[in-house]
Amino acid sequence: MISPDLAVCKDCVREMFDKFDKRYLYPFINCTNCGPRFSIIENTPYDRPMTTMKDFKMCDYCKNEYTNPLDRRFHAQPIACPECGPEFELLNNNLEKIQTDEPIKETIELLKNGKIVAIKGISGFHLACDATNTKVVKRLRKLKDRPHKPFAIMTQEKNLSKLVDITAENINLLKSPESPILILKKKKNLLSELVAPNNPNIGVFIPYAPIHFLLFDEELPFLVMTSGNINNDPISKDERSLQKICDYFLTNNRPILNRSDDSVILPTRNKNLILRRSRGFVPSPINLPINTIPTLGMGAALKITFSLTKNKQLFLSPYIGNSFSKNTMDFYFEMLEKYKKWFDIKPKLIACDLQPDFFTTRLAKKQDLPLIKVQHHHAHIAAIMAEHHITEPVIGVVYDGTGYGTDGAIWGGEIMAADFNKFQRLFHLNDMPLPGGDSAIKKPIRIAYAYLKKIGIDTNFLENISEMEKRIISKQIENNFNVFQTSSMGRLFDCVSTMLGLFPEISFEAQSAMALQFLCDENNIKNAKIYSYEIQNDKINIQSILKEIAKDIHNGISPKKIAESFHNTIIQFTVDAVTEASKKSEIKKVVLSGGVMQNKIIVENLNHILTKNNFTVYLPSELPSNDGSISVGQVMVANRKYLKT
Ligand code: ZN
Ligand code: ZN
Ligand code: FE
Repeated sequence: MISPDLAVCKDCVREMFDKFDKRYLYPFINCTNCGPRFSIIENTPYDRPMTTMKDFKMCDYCKNEYTNPLDRRFHAQPIACPECGPEFELLNNNLEKIQTDEPIKETIELLKNGKIVAIKGISGFHLACDATNTKVVKRLRKLKDRPHKPFAIMTQEKNLSKLVDITAENINLLKSPESPILILKKKKNLLSELVAPNNPNIGVFIPYAPIHFLLFDEELPFLVMTSGNINNDPISKDERSLQKICDYFLTNNRPILNRSDDSVILPTRNKNLILRRSRGFVPSPINLPINTIPTLGMGAALKITFSLTKNKQLFLSPYIGNSFSKNTMDFYFEMLEKYKKWFDIKPKLIACDLQPDFFTTRLAKKQDLPLIKVQHHHAHIAAIMAEHHITEPVIGVVYDGTGYGTDGAIWGGEIMAADFNKFQRLFHLNDMPLPGGDSAIKKPIRIAYAYLKKIGIDTNFLENISEMEKRIISKQIENNFNVFQTSSMGRLFDCVSTMLGLFPEISFEAQSAMALQFLCDENNIKNAKIYSYEIQNDKINIQSILKEIAKDIHNGISPKKIAESFHNTIIQFTVDAVTEASKKSEIKKVVLSGGVMQNKIIVENLNHILTKNNFTVYLPSELPSNDGSISVGQVMVANRKYLKT
């Protein structure tokens, strides 16, 4: 077995700040209870010669501890001290060494002076800068080509409560060996507004590698610590790829073999929802409710992970990224080969998405293995069923952006009856036109225009769309040329968001949906007006919702009120549809999944009302509701289907 990387333990931290300890201020301190594992391992068994520590010959002091069964460092494979272990150095962005005896202190000064420093952590680089300095945060956004997506903030435990609303339970989670990023509500804004623009929340974490503990002082309490990567590429493990986007490197001579990004968790009223399962969690296996033959689940296209199974265990890859760059897919292959070797798995079955154009689908077809294609939303449900060890039929509510349907349309507002073997599409949002596919997803104002056009609502109030765009889209719809039909909930959010004048163009997934959510006061939702909708046959007709929203806009109702009503309407029609679905199917178990279930308002209220109405609700908690767990659902469905044939 290979353990995940673990945050430095409190005994080691105490020693690190003890002037009389051999490892005083030593940034590679660790013991059997903590330290790197996954990131340094080359091969199993986990033993020093099989790790990147093999090149550091233990000194007598370390060796004594390592061989003493009574010592806290007995067989601690990454054991090291200033005499024998790795060390940090400071480089400029030409990779030339800066002469200094105190590279870490020097780094703090550089950060205070508004520089961007790439800092080598446990399982990848972070790009760090002073989070209170708008000028440098702005520069980092420009260099990373990341105009809006929020940056995570690292701060010492003692400063957390200045920054965010935080509970004792949140603090324990931050201090856990997994040490994830938590998405919490900003208190007052001590940081540059550009850290998380137009966002009431902020992702925070606390030092988890020894080096992190040494980066702060009274004048530098808050650091942006964002994954060190070039747009669309995976997190970097060496300096070269980051040269253009930082001023300095605080780096060290211990190679990172296996990369993993920081994990991200969203605490909600009832449960913590994991949004990204990576460092601290991988490669720990997930126990499955059914036995499997060795199976590879490929993932979809966004937020890719792969899954490999062995009997009742599933090994989920670290977060890989979106399949749009060669480097990302190289990372995918690299980890896949390693997982196969480490866990001794030779897949006998392969599962992929139904979408024929996905890179992962094309790859799956090339393998000389039985292939099962799994409908995207079926996979979403199956993943969360696996998490909760449910094997009997459930009602799955899957709201997301895009998933290829069995009819070739783009699905994404789905209420299904499903088990691992099959699904039945009971209700879905009525189909709407998506002109030009992906291009409209990046420019959601085009979605609003197409939707309103289709319904016959006057579009004159829409801002931020050119006459030319309007003409092209009208023609496309008229001639049914390059127009896709979609039942996507994500696109409905896009439509309403841009109707209200928010983000006509977006720079990251779900940006306009988040903006709409952030307009709302969570406490007002249940009293907000509900727009009319119709549930007929298998369709939830959303056209009248859009008509009434257009009317509200016309009547000068505030965007905040409209956003609250829109959320309440979704909650209401979902409860109605689930109730209908339950009458038809006699199922009382409800699984919530899909990227939209990261919307706290939707997930908390659905959970609350459905539970009150005697449903048993299962939330995506240990596995992400987004496409990060699609590969898990794929292997579950594939196994059941394959064994039936
Ligand atoms: Zn320790
Ligand atoms: Zn030593
Ligand atoms: Fe999805």
